[in-house]
Amino acid sequence: MAIEHEPGSARAAPLEITVVGAGILGLWQALTLARAGHRVRLVERSKTPFAESASRFAGAMLAPGCESETAPEISTLGARGLALWRDTYPRLVNAGSLVVAAPRDHAEAAHFARVTSPPLTLGPDALASLEPDLAGRFSEAFYFPGEAHMATPDALSFLLDATETAGATLELGAAWTTPSAADVVVDCRGMSAAHDLPNLRGVRGERLLLRTHEVRLARPVRLLHPRHPLYVVPWGDGRFVVGATVIESEDQGAITVRSALELLGAAYALHPAFAEAEILETGAGIRPAFPDNLPHAEIRDGGRRILVNGAHRNGFLLAPVLAEAVSDYLANQTPHELLVFSEPLAHAPRSG
Ligand SMILES: Cc1cc2nc3c(=O)[nH]c(=O)nc-3n(C[C@H](O)[C@H](O)[C@H](O)COP(=O)(O)OP(=O)(O)OC[C@H]3O[C@@H](n4cnc5c(N)ncnc54)[C@H](O)[C@@H]3O)c2cc1C
Repeated sequence: MAIEHEPGSARAAPLEITVVGAGILGLWQALTLARAGHRVRLVERSKTPFAESASRFAGAMLAPGCESETAPEISTLGARGLALWRDTYPRLVNAGSLVVAAPRDHAEAAHFARVTSPPLTLGPDALASLEPDLAGRFSEAFYFPGEAHMATPDALSFLLDATETAGATLELGAAWTTPSAADVVVDCRGMSAAHDLPNLRGVRGERLLLRTHEVRLARPVRLLHPRHPLYVVPWGDGRFVVGATVIESEDQGAITVRSALELLGAAYALHPAFAEAEILETGAGIRPAFPDNLPHAEIRDGGRRILVNGAHRNGFLLAPVLAEAVSDYLANQTPHELLVFSEPLAHAPRSG
């Protein structure tokens, strides 16, 4: 099908776009493309939103500084992701993140500081005034004041509503199969796309949701550790996500006893009052990842099929960046470092 400009218009004509998968990547794609004026259909195989997604297990921290430990590119890409979230989601918590280590783990702290260059290092007094509940527990902390976090269920629901408000139609309980009559299919099926993406692997992440009113934290706290690094993310109302394991496995089973013990032990090390917390939920999700642990949008079939995947630990952080990259590509064939072409750029679905 030829996709044409409106006569005399500098803009490409609106496209019929099917976005497959309503995880965090699909939601951001559908929202951004609908807001750009395209006719968007968001197709999700589960009947209940997010029930079969990895996204519902996320923390969800927007932490480009902390996460640059694994890939330096995340720092600049993530800064754009943060800006797009701030423009879109009013309940984002802009309180930064903290990173601490027990004195015996000073080697991990030194390595982390070398790789991520934290903007601020806090002594005990500054840490106590920022997070009073951590007073006297750690002799120093790294502080990334520009980072943010959110409560995952609220953020996912917000994006789903915003997508429909922007004009996209939502089809739940509809498993997408090829071929498609749409001009463009944006495939955000997560691990279900592995058959079409031979480099994709799954990285298991387990986490707990706890509730206690005995611990008060305003921002995510990461605890460095040689074997069991952990984070605690405050979701409000006394809820805390404690995560997450990083296991090279695609096992979809429930959290193991070993992982639960490690996470709970680390939470207790961060603050002993977690011992009295209720365990509200356990969960394990499979993070889709490429070998470089960075996501990309692969442009196939002359731009008629775009596979967006591989977000690994940064699906929330980088979903808006991927969506902007795809939208700009469809409008103007704009290149972007997260776009990968399996065919020459000249075959893109745009005339003129
Ligand atoms: C424990 C844990 C903690 C995490 N913490 C963070 C964090 O703090 N910050 C951060 O940025 N990231 C975090 N992540 C990473 C993030 O959650 C992932 O990168 C992200 O969820 C991947 O999203 P996705 O949209 O690619 O996949 P998914 O969320 O799995 O979505 C794919 C969707 O496609 C649907 N689907 C599949 N096949 C079909 C089909 N044929 N037709 C229709 N629909 C289909 C599925 O049902 C699913 O809803 C974390 C991950 C885990 C596991």
